[in-house]
Amino acid sequence: MTTTLVSREIRLAARPVGEPGPEHFELASAPVPEPAEGQVVVRNTWMSVDPYMRGRMNDVPSYIPPFRLGEAMEGSAVGEVVASRSAEVPVGATVSHFLGWREYAVLDAAAATVVDAGRIPAQAYLGALGTTGLTAYVALTRTAPVREGDTVFVSAAGGAVGSVAGQLARRLGAVRVIGSAGGPAKTKRLVADFGYDAALDYRAGRLEEQLAEAAPEGVDVYLDSVGGDHLRAAIGAMRAGGRIAMVGAISGYNAETPAPGPDNLFEAAAKEVTLRGMLVSNWLDLFPEWIAKAAPWLADGTLRTEETVVDGIERAPEAFLGMMRGANTGKMLVRLAG
Ligand code: NAP
Repeated sequence: MTTTLVSREIRLAARPVGEPGPEHFELASAPVPEPAEGQVVVRNTWMSVDPYMRGRMNDVPSYIPPFRLGEAMEGSAVGEVVASRSAEVPVGATVSHFLGWREYAVLDAAAATVVDAGRIPAQAYLGALGTTGLTAYVALTRTAPVREGDTVFVSAAGGAVGSVAGQLARRLGAVRVIGSAGGPAKTKRLVADFGYDAALDYRAGRLEEQLAEAAPEGVDVYLDSVGGDHLRAAIGAMRAGGRIAMVGAISGYNAETPAPGPDNLFEAAAKEVTLRGMLVSNWLDLFPEWIAKAAPWLADGTLRTEETVVDGIERAPEAFLGMMRGANTGKMLVRLAG
């Protein structure tokens, strides 16, 4: 059945130095192989583009191997099973898996997770109900736990993790939630739609002054997605005993040489601030706990989320490059099929 299927995919054409561009990606077609015993064929309907993929474009050892030159890239996707040689994952099931960047994926059924796309759209499993939402949950409950009465600061607050994190911080007892984002349109959305009390526009400069104005009593918890100037400003604003979840450092992902660290680290020492890293792939056992909480919030609309959607596998590089520059509000997604 599947021998006649051809799948379009995006391959890594070249490794970027500095900011990537369309020339680093290549659209190609490949026949879809027949599934072996225990495998399924998935027609991908949505795929995710994520900041960590920038690191995989480099040929350097990391917590996840580099993409291979000339081969299809990979990442989170959801889709519908169109052929199955597994009793556990039947034809018609909606699954999430890790073979995105292609229209059809052939994979072991054990590598596919059947998701309930009944009340909640399947693509939510790439956003609030996926590793994105889980990242916010782990960061604010385990890495830098929010306590009743806290003031919380979140960077990249209009993006996938950040738009969930602000609302979650409030549910965890924060009394003041401050977000930063790039540009007036996005910062407006932080307050209007994503539950933030105050929004800082980092592109307007004076980040430290903006943060001091928004949090005159200081910050108890900072979720860092940006590093660089944001981390420096947050350390300066932290209260004694404050907690920083080091989740990402997107301001340096395209840097050609390692970005210098913040020059005010002694302030963190003097205030006994905890800076703690977090890698969501080490916390996947918390998925059921997070989904049990977040799915009802999504279903009843009390967790506001947003998607920025780009259509077609051929536009997946554009979606990725746009996300890295802030073209998304909420989760950046590529719709591959209806
Ligand atoms: P996202 O926030 O939806 O998209 C990335 C955003 O980063 C852009 O929309 C842009 O928003 C912002 N940005 C880009 N360059 C920037 C700069 N120089 N300074 C400040 N902001 C900049 O992406 P996401 O998937 O939610 O990921 C957010 C962060 O969490 C990333 O650092 C990512 O690596 C990290 N993360 C870590 C884990 C983990 O396991 N540790 C898991 C998931 C995500 P603006 O328009 O506001 O500039």
